[in-house]
Amino acid sequence: MIIDGHNDLVLARWRGEEPRHVDLAAAADADFAGGFFALYVPSTDTGLPGAPPYDVALPRPVPYDEAAPVAEELFETLCALPVRRAASADDFAAGEVTAIVHMEGAEPIAPDLSNLERWHERGLRSIGLVWSRPNAFAEGVPFRFPASPDTGPGLTDAGRALVTACNELGILIDLSHLNERGFWDVAEVSRAPLVATHSNAHALCPSTRNLTDAQLDAIGASHGIVGVNFAVSFLREDGEYLPEETGIDEIVRHVDYIAQRIGIDHVGLGSDFDGAGVPHELDGVKGLPKLVDALRERYDDEALAKITHENWLRVLRATWH
Ligand code: ZN
Repeated sequence: MIIDGHNDLVLARWRGEEPRHVDLAAAADADFAGGFFALYVPSTDTGLPGAPPYDVALPRPVPYDEAAPVAEELFETLCALPVRRAASADDFAAGEVTAIVHMEGAEPIAPDLSNLERWHERGLRSIGLVWSRPNAFAEGVPFRFPASPDTGPGLTDAGRALVTACNELGILIDLSHLNERGFWDVAEVSRAPLVATHSNAHALCPSTRNLTDAQLDAIGASHGIVGVNFAVSFLREDGEYLPEETGIDEIVRHVDYIAQRIGIDHVGLGSDFDGAGVPHELDGVKGLPKLVDALRERYDDEALAKITHENWLRVLRATWH
């Protein structure tokens, strides 16, 4: 059974696009049991990373009034998918697809948090404080390569209050896309295991979207998890976007590094399917068995179960209540 840290199927469906990666009809054969389904209110002024080195400017903030109605549409889109929505870790089952309702960027949450409980009641179980832009709570990393994730200011007072409120409600806080100061602020305030749903090792690929060794160590020490991102640009040492030439071995390289650095209990998968270009060799959900086969060459059954789903379930159980 595979539980995955991030996909953007909802965005593709909301845009009326045919998803490239998340083929729900192929899920059962691929042993894909779902995972985090992002509600992401897109920026319209995002620059695209070119050939490295690159430095993409942060998009303008998306105000709450603009984000909230889009998030409603995204949530309706998710609810229309033929998937179960997770209320507890026990909802995951082999042969079924279960969606964790995840907000990627907290713009649809009112800065006074007045609608947070309502979202939780409707099934929201995970919030990434930011996408790669500033908002009322924190600031995301701009896409830069090669560069440190220490790119700007940390959490605002509203951001700290949001972390505390999420702890109280049992909503998971996702650190992917957050800048390094924000990361350390969450580490200080939060009582939950630290989670980066879709990020890689900065030591292997020095993108702002990846985690430094110190960040990895903090995640391990908190009994948290890193979901390894399949995005070619966040895997390769040279930062090039070459999906044809990039193999599954690059994903395995990051799994190995994180497992060696912080332990096998703290690494999982975080595909970024339908949100990023992944190795063509993998080509979406239907290619997942190829990745599992590659991991099986290096890990025994017990370790493989941790990477594919048990670590995610442990962190969900520790975080949700
Ligand atoms: Zn993302």
